[in-house]
Amino acid sequence: MSGERICAGCAAVLSARTLACPSCARLVHQTELEELARRAGEAEARQDFGAALEAWRRALELLPPSTRQRAAIQAKVVELSGRVESKPAKKPVPKWLASMGVVGALVWKSKFVLAFVLTKGKFVLLGLTKWKTALSMLLSLGVYWNLWGWPFALGFVLSMYVHEMGHVAALRRYGIRASAPMFIPGFGAFVRLEQHLATVIEDARVGIAGPWWGLGAALVAYGLFLATGAPIYAGIARAGAWLNLFNLVPIWQLDGGRAFASLTRKQRTLAAAGIGLAWLATGETLFVLLLGGAVYQCFRAAQTAEPDRRGLAYYLGVMGAHGALLFVQVPGVNAPGL
Ligand SMILES: [Zn+2]
Ligand SMILES: [Zn+2]
Repeated sequence: MSGERICAGCAAVLSARTLACPSCARLVHQTELEELARRAGEAEARQDFGAALEAWRRALELLPPSTRQRAAIQAKVVELSGRVESKPAKKPVPKWLASMGVVGALVWKSKFVLAFVLTKGKFVLLGLTKWKTALSMLLSLGVYWNLWGWPFALGFVLSMYVHEMGHVAALRRYGIRASAPMFIPGFGAFVRLEQHLATVIEDARVGIAGPWWGLGAALVAYGLFLATGAPIYAGIARAGAWLNLFNLVPIWQLDGGRAFASLTRKQRTLAAAGIGLAWLATGETLFVLLLGGAVYQCFRAAQTAEPDRRGLAYYLGVMGAHGALLFVQVPGVNAPGL
């Protein structure tokens, strides 16, 4: 059948899925593995840990289980993954800015909000070039349009999209392969991971990135409301906040569940207390769901003994900010979560 290959070492016929020759033990993907190792080394040298991790994770897939090389690369992935956070990779000046000479360099170096927004904006638009994303997004838009009219539907779907691109950005930072964002009309959106995560920190950072980016979208909508006074923007901000909060329920594969993966039991208790406070402050019944999930997590064995202070701060920060957004009053807008 197709996919069969000949061992370069002993000429034995190998099936398509074989990773090492059973006769002479030669690695089937030796050449590609060497190329990946070279690429990873170069990426690490220029402190591009995302690219280095991407290459090493690919190499892991090409190595048979329980080999020394595999164990060594797995250890390398864990080490590099830890460095992603402790020392964020320096972003090179984008070509179009560099071509503007001194002015471009100034714009970049002084980290103007403009440059930040433009690069993030370009990245956000990138997802729309995937036809599956664009098509499923249009279908979703149609469903919400039917329910709440097009202006709200458009804002809501865009909020969801920005949330998903937050996950995509975090996955890219850690060099983890994943699907493009997909929408399920009337239900939500998701990004499917195509590789295993190496650490609980990766799990937590990938999870919490969605609600953080979603917060950005909600704040933009709220800003538009303040600037124009049009209640539709307040409705979009509030609905976005509600959606992100729902995703922060710390169970299963929801973003909140991922975020809790890196927390110790004591930290989970603190998170539960924070959620309880948010509930008292807002009176929102949605917080009961979050609290229930958090209490459940307090009784489960933690996956780690090492406290993740940053992870707890990320969770409480984004949860609190969305809670505050729920105070936004929206007169006369028919929308979910209102
Ligand atoms: Zn062989
Ligand atoms: Zn999410």
